[in-house]
Amino acid sequence: MRVVKVCRACDRIIGEIELDDLTNANSDPIMDIVGNVSYTLCPGCLNDMETEPKGVFH
Ligand SMILES: [Zn+2]
Repeated sequence: MRVVKVCRACDRIIGEIELDDLTNANSDPIMDIVGNVSYTLCPGCLNDMETEPKGVFH
């Protein structure tokens, strides 16, 4: 099964991955698969989340 990875923060398409077993995807806590779209975070947004103080918006 092919799923498209989309960043949930900036809606950027990150790429496509091939998933043979959906239980593998569940090992990634930031990944949320809906249909054949996998909502996750691109490296840029993930980096922002890790460096920004939590819950603080400009
Ligand atoms: Zn992003």
